Amino acid sequence: MGAPNLPPQLPATPAAAGVAAAIAAVGWHPRARRVVSPNRDARPAGIAVELLVLHNISLPPGRFGGPGVEQLFTNRLDPAADPFYTEIAGLKVSAHFFLRRDGSLIQFVSCGERAWHAGVSRWRGREKCNDFSIGIEIEGTDERPYTARQYARLAGLIDALRAAYPGIAGIAAHSEIAPGRKTDPGPSFDWARLVAACKLPRAWRRI
Ligand SMILES: [Zn+2]
Repeated sequence: MGAPNLPPQLPATPAAAGVAAAIAAVGWHPRARRVVSPNRDARPAGIAVELLVLHNISLPPGRFGGPGVEQLFTNRLDPAADPFYTEIAGLKVSAHFFLRRDGSLIQFVSCGERAWHAGVSRWRGREKCNDFSIGIEIEGTDERPYTARQYARLAGLIDALRAAYPGIAGIAAHSEIAPGRKTDPGPSFDWARLVAACKLPRAWRRI
């Protein structure tokens, strides 16, 4: 709809196009496992998805593969299960997607709704990034390299989201939209690898 200065969209691969069509139609990735989070609400009226936000998380911190993240995003974390959990058990948070070390994907919130991942944040002068973003949590830490399966799955997800939401104009680290407050996905995240894999326009990395 009349956006002459947007860069042309790359043609999606057939697989990504099918996924994109499903996401555009219903907000849910057809091949992600669905775990519905109560921590969500409507996007403000008239606000389009324009930004992807990358995060990392592991629960307990630095340990992979357990149920902690799903439990946190569904308000079912047991504060007695780990000393760290007493600090975070009351948080009401979520993300749209959680990408595990093995490349498996879980979706908690429809892309058409607002997930609660960014908190106090600013991108290109606009605050409240949750309003207009899709949040992707990558299982990991700021220090440990992410896995090849995660990069591959993330690239496919981004391809599909670009095709589903042509208004997306950028991708940011949580640390870039909440500087001084957040550090994820950290120095361990290889931006050059992602940009190359997705052939992202240079302008997408402007914060
Ligand atoms: Zn984050």
